[in-house]
Amino acid sequence: MNLRQRRQTQFSFVYVLVAIALMWLFNEFIFRPFIIQRTQVSYDQFREDLEQGRIDEVVLGEDLIIYVMGAEEGESLEVRNTVPVGDRELISDLLAQGVTFRARAPSSGLLTTLLGWLIPFIPLLIIWYLIFQRMGGGGNLLSFGKSRAQEISGEMTGVTFENVGGINEVEVELKEIIDFLKHPERFTKMGAKLPKGVLLVGPPGTGKTLVAKATAGEAGVPFFSLSGSDFVEMFVGVGAARVRDLFEQAKEKAPCIVFIDEIDAIGQARAQAGVVQMHDEREQTLNQLLTEMDGFDPNTGVIIMAATNRPEVLDKALLRPGRFDRQIQVTPPSEGGRLQILKIHIRDVPLADGVDLERLAQITAGFSGADLANIVNEAALMAVRHGHDKVTSADFDLAIERVVAGLQRKEPLGEELRRKVAYHEGGHALVAALLPHTEPVHKVSIIPTTKGALGYTLQMPDEDRYLMGEATLKERLVVLLGGRAAEMLVFDEVSTGAANDLERATDIARRMITEFGMSEVLGPVRYTPPAGFGYLGTQTGLRQDLSPETTAKVDSEVRKIVSEAQGRALELLKTHREGLEHLAQLLQANEVVTGEEVYATLDSGIKPKIAAKPTSA
Ligand code: ADP
Ligand code: MG
Ligand code: ZN
Repeated sequence: MNLRQRRQTQFSFVYVLVAIALMWLFNEFIFRPFIIQRTQVSYDQFREDLEQGRIDEVVLGEDLIIYVMGAEEGESLEVRNTVPVGDRELISDLLAQGVTFRARAPSSGLLTTLLGWLIPFIPLLIIWYLIFQRMGGGGNLLSFGKSRAQEISGEMTGVTFENVGGINEVEVELKEIIDFLKHPERFTKMGAKLPKGVLLVGPPGTGKTLVAKATAGEAGVPFFSLSGSDFVEMFVGVGAARVRDLFEQAKEKAPCIVFIDEIDAIGQARAQAGVVQMHDEREQTLNQLLTEMDGFDPNTGVIIMAATNRPEVLDKALLRPGRFDRQIQVTPPSEGGRLQILKIHIRDVPLADGVDLERLAQITAGFSGADLANIVNEAALMAVRHGHDKVTSADFDLAIERVVAGLQRKEPLGEELRRKVAYHEGGHALVAALLPHTEPVHKVSIIPTTKGALGYTLQMPDEDRYLMGEATLKERLVVLLGGRAAEMLVFDEVSTGAANDLERATDIARRMITEFGMSEVLGPVRYTPPAGFGYLGTQTGLRQDLSPETTAKVDSEVRKIVSEAQGRALELLKTHREGLEHLAQLLQANEVVTGEEVYATLDSGIKPKIAAKPTSA
């Protein structure tokens, strides 16, 4: 919940309180004297009062008799009431006593009845109101279906590109849009047309939402933000109404940015939507969005931005010219980018002397901005827990481990199991250290993780890898099978511990053959359906139009590649059996062995490198 939202809720809550207070006052002091009777007495008491001549005035209602006593004798005035019992002699007795009496005017009766009807509904109305408030009805009972867009001006969020690291290219691409939002007249004068929609595409946590906010912040324009999942409401038609309303609001506040986060929630290809109900709703919402995007001139100064991490599931209609025709890739940060991001997030964190941010950036290849923010936060938490007054290098190491491998579990493994795990992990590490194309070993551990692994080997890439050669992939397989190979060599049997390794190895091998064309037998052909293919986009595995022979060939090729990798792993470990023994012993003694120690174990002259990505469990 952002600041403004919170303020609004508090504000309307005060309203509710005031309303309740007013109602109470009204009830107590204005309403009550009219209908509430001071004392209710029995009918025979009334009769007695009457016979003794104490009554001055009687009001006869249909279901209530109100009477006043003590008006003349200067006594204190008393008003009593009683319920009539169908007393036929009452009128004659009243006349005999000379009491002033009248029937109750029907109008007051009507008012009373009306109020009597309304009052029980007031709590219901309040509850209703609160529910709508929560549902985002905008705090007004009548604004059902209005969009939940919260206007936050760029200055209010205070987010600028200062707060985003490692996105230089993205920044360059957005510069034009920012210029346009700042000085729209310059562009309109030249007759230049800007893209209406900008789609930010990238994996989760890379800062797409942050970039959109920063764009608004840099341009100093209002930022209307909505999440795709907000649209998926319980009533059909509400989503479409929200879209309409959102654009109405935005046009009034132009120049501004409309941001639709997680647009895949509404923008999924229409034929693929699941449940019929959802389908209708999403389709209506999507159609409305398309209509709105077509129906306005970008030179009104409204720029639509959207973010997704699954561009492939988006309806093609969204990507057509005049809609989200500009796509900007937001990729995981490079080493320099990671350093920038770390620097942004440590701004308020006191660092101890030994902390080397450059090294941190180096060993966190593949981490997203959100992961890095998380690491800094975890490190600060570690420092607090350990009573440090500054965050130390060791705190960061623990934080990385925690983010990578989950929390370390306390209870130790049994002796026999520990020995097995030590050889298994030792096998992975040794093979990784021996092969030329693999990422350097950073750390081996036989401390079980909370994620259920009994140990892990961390490898850290020394450079970012976007492209991997066949040799690299094959060596990855060898590393994955290194654990199992070590078990075969030492214990002469394999255990269930290698199941996950095998799964990953098989997956890589399969993709090498079916997607990357790395098999000589099967050639440079893709054997899997395109992403998002099939009913609900869930069809995976091999294409269904393949002949049984081809399918069989794929299977045998996968088997061949994985078996070859296992053979290589066994071979390597046999040659370096002493190294394996030494490493396993070290692991059993210390639980954790650093990359340097692994390389020192080897007789060959492989240089220790600092390394960070888990390749194995
Ligand atoms: P996305 O929308 O791509 O999933 P977010 O923008 O929600 O990612 O990022 C989540 C958080 O991670 C941000 O609030 C920020 O703290 C941090 N973060 C992500 N990317 C970056 C970045 N490039 N620079 C600085 N912080 C980042
Ligand atoms: Mg996001
Ligand atoms: Zn393993």
